[in-house]
Amino acid sequence: MIVSTFGFAGNPGSPSFVRVELRFERGILFRISGFSSQAARASHARIRSALIACGQRWPGKAITVNLAPAELSRTSTAFDLPIALAILASRGVIPASALTLKASAGELGLDGSIRPWQTSIFENRINITSPLSDSNKIKTLISPPLSGYSEPIFPHETFTHLSDLIAYFKSPTQSKNSSNNSKLLLKASSTTTIQTQSESTFENIQGEETAKRKAIIAAAGSHDLIMLGPPGSGKTVLAKCIHSLLPDLSPKHHSECTSIHAAAGHLFNPNSKRPPWQSPHSSTNLNGLIGSWSTLKSRGVIPGSWSLAHHGVLFLDEFAEFSRGTLEACRSPLESHTISLVRAAGSSELPASALLIAALNPCPCGRGTGRVKSCSCQESEIKRYLRKVSGPVADRIAIHLELGHELTEPSTASTSAMSWTSARATVARIRKWNLEHHGDDRFSHGPQMTPKAADLLHSCRTVLKLSHRGLHHVRNVALTAALVDDSPSIELEHIAEAGASRLFDRKTWLR
Ligand SMILES: [Zn+2]
Repeated sequence: MIVSTFGFAGNPGSPSFVRVELRFERGILFRISGFSSQAARASHARIRSALIACGQRWPGKAITVNLAPAELSRTSTAFDLPIALAILASRGVIPASALTLKASAGELGLDGSIRPWQTSIFENRINITSPLSDSNKIKTLISPPLSGYSEPIFPHETFTHLSDLIAYFKSPTQSKNSSNNSKLLLKASSTTTIQTQSESTFENIQGEETAKRKAIIAAAGSHDLIMLGPPGSGKTVLAKCIHSLLPDLSPKHHSECTSIHAAAGHLFNPNSKRPPWQSPHSSTNLNGLIGSWSTLKSRGVIPGSWSLAHHGVLFLDEFAEFSRGTLEACRSPLESHTISLVRAAGSSELPASALLIAALNPCPCGRGTGRVKSCSCQESEIKRYLRKVSGPVADRIAIHLELGHELTEPSTASTSAMSWTSARATVARIRKWNLEHHGDDRFSHGPQMTPKAADLLHSCRTVLKLSHRGLHHVRNVALTAALVDDSPSIELEHIAEAGASRLFDRKTWLR
């Protein structure tokens, strides 16, 4: 069966309708007439990922797309949307007859979001022409929302996500009620989006009570955390637990996240209040992590993972595998929670208040640590590996944690960490308190230190050879620990616990 719909081609000044024909064939190739194989591959990757993100199956067949008339067909990302719709119609997900009277344009994001494309063709209200005889039958235009678009030439529907568009085609009653305002459509279909990310809880981790307690402290006090542990010791699960412990975003924070994600060209969870979670691969470069200036003049700054994780969690697994320059660039957001991008034409500041969770193996082979030698790594190799995390970077991370050392026996009632529900409630309680008390206010209004605890804090500096910043972290983490316990004062054990969280400051680690 051949499915046919309409797209646009041409320059912004002279757009034209183009017929998009699609058929399934035997094989696995994906071809678009008039596209180079490279452009077709890129288009294939975007459409496939977007459909899967919307819960659709990718057809296990060869797909041939013809764009007619051939002389007008150009390589353009705006064909993503008509091709995706034609694939859905070929699979019977949406009615093919609904497509024949519609023209669509838009680039798809990997998450199914629909990005704007050459919106000036609509904004300028230039008549769209076409040599195709049946294009005068086109009744509706489908595109992403357009800025400054006031007088439509055609009835016009705008969508920001492919799943909303599928819902629109599936439900004719909704299509009758739909208006030019995409917000109404977004609202109507908000219930159809499924929350796919399941929550990780402490039940996914056997034993490791110290780690669980530190996870609660990190989430409650927004303390950055670095963990060392062999592969399979639960580093990723613990990081996900910390993310799950964070309370939902406030409307203000949600709108901040939405605008940061929009600057990067994608849609931020319109239907969920959960804080963002970013876990870039260790091959990510400086621009990907910190952000960069776009080469396109009008686009300005493109936020990196640090900013995309604003108000949420930035999880950097295989921390030592990131390039040295990329790791050193983390110093500024760790310290100031902002990123400053400077170039000759001016500077721009990006918010980057994310909770950093870094994870790394204890040695290059992953089986041993500085103390327990069950691996074959030479001491010099281990040192070289751990030194990739420089002193200044480790110094800025409040909690250092070692996993995989505790026996994974089922915990007894007396030693087990608090239940998941009470852990979430504790985190929410302390975060609320932190919003009311910042900086030094925390220390003057929070639990006060007992004389014994103050003595221990003082000796921490000499015994653990802590920097001024390291000492501040110990004090700060101890305060959060006291708040977690709902203790009226910061006790000796709170300081001891926080001091034990400075692994990288110890001589045994980085001699
Ligand atoms: Zn090793």
